Parts: sequence; C-alpha cells; structure tokens
Amino acid sequence: MKTVDCPLPFDSLADCLEWIEPRLLDAHQRHLGGEQVEAMPWWPAGYATDSEDRAFEIAVGAVLTQNTNWRNVEKALANLHAAKVLTAADILALEDENLAELIRPSGFYRIKTRRLKAMTCAWHEAGGLAALKNRPTGELRDWLLAIHGVGHETADDILLYALERPVWVIDTYTRRLFHRLGFPETAARKYDQLADDLLTHTQEPTATRLARWHGLIVEHAKAHCRVKPACAECPLRERCLHGVGRETIGRLPVLRLG
Ligand code: SF4
Repeated sequence: MKTVDCPLPFDSLADCLEWIEPRLLDAHQRHLGGEQVEAMPWWPAGYATDSEDRAFEIAVGAVLTQNTNWRNVEKALANLHAAKVLTAADILALEDENLAELIRPSGFYRIKTRRLKAMTCAWHEAGGLAALKNRPTGELRDWLLAIHGVGHETADDILLYALERPVWVIDTYTRRLFHRLGFPETAARKYDQLADDLLTHTQEPTATRLARWHGLIVEHAKAHCRVKPACAECPLRERCLHGVGRETIGRLPVLRLG
C-alpha cells in the first residue's frame, strides 16, 4: 500500500479550529468575489427592519427550518411577510388553519403550526426581545428548551442569531466536518458535550465570531463537504483525514476532542 507523509493529525481541537478558520474564511471570501466577511451575519433574515422584529423573524425561521432546506423556509417567510403577519402579536392572532396554510411550503406544516404558536406564545409572554436580552444565557437556554418543539439546535439558532449569545450551533454539517477532519468521537458526542468542547477551544468566542463559524461551516458543507464530498478543490483537504484518504495515510490517529 502506498503511504504519504501527511501532516495529520491535529494536536487538538483547538489546533484544528485555528487551522481551518482562516481557510474557510478565505474560501468564502473568494466565493463572494472578495466581499468582506468579517461582519458576516449569515442568518438570512430579510424582512424585518427593527431589532425586535428581526430577532423574532430569526426565531420563526429557526422553527420553520426544522427538517427542511432553507429555500422552503424562504417561501413560508415570504407568505407570512406578504400577509403582514410576521410579528408575534399577528401570529398569535391568526387561526391555526390560516397559519398552517401560510407556512405550508416549509413542510410538516401542521406540526410546525403548533410549534410556531408555542414559540410565539412563549416569546410574547416573556416580553419579547427587550426582556429576553436581559436574561442570562443559561436561563434563556432552559427557557427555550422547555418550549414545545424547540430542541437543542433550534434553541441555539435562536440564542446565537436572535439573542446574540455566544453558543456553538451543532448541526449535521458540524458533526460531519469534524468527524471527517479526524475526530471520530464527534459523531456520537452528546449535543451539549460537543458544543462545550467546541466553545472551550474557540479563541475569543464572541457571538459574532460564533455566528460566523456556523455560517462558514454551513457554506463549506454546501460547497464541498456534502454527503458525497467534493474533496479535490476543498481548502481543508491538506489536513483532512477523509479528504487525503485513510488508505494513503501511514498512521491512523484517533483524536480526542478534549
Ligand atoms: S477534504 Fe473532503 S471530507 Fe475533508 S473537509 Fe474537505 S470536502 Fe470534507
């Protein structure tokens, strides 16, 4: 068997994060034709003009994006916007049947109607963004997870993008990327544990930076690290266990996350 002198493995998750961040940034910047991505907000909330409505629109998108792709969410949000009901008070005033029809493009629309109503009710009763932004992150997370239909990923989408708290959003793309980069524990790691691992090893983990991290990973997953990965042009291939190819590597490290 042919082996190559591969620079793997990473010494640690911190080493991995430090190495891949500038490469993902550079690749994304080139993809955008040189546009500055330092302030990349990424979460595509497009209708609201003030901070309260924008935060709520993000929370609505976080519920609607469960088990579907963003294009379908965009159609549902466009319907809500066209019907002039993209606020908490307006959604609460809508009959379930009417709301279901508006969000039908996002799929599972009857389930999502109940979930969206539950999230909206909780948001409204809590006092909206003005009240929520004064609560500690851990308390907000518990509050979100207690809402019908809000799981870890949805809660962290809302925490990070709507409430601007420094949390890692763990999704399929994140697990896939770090697993392929050489961290086999990633696949089975519990959500909270993996989120803590990544947060602990992220340099200067501000909400802005973590929002950018999540956006970069999602964009990378779409461009290269798909279910069937396009490794040939991948900016991370040089140190990716999966991309280089296990069969060509003389040593097979088992990397620990901690
Ligand atoms: S080299 Fe392939 S498997 Fe590795 S990160 Fe890039 S696309 Fe994913």
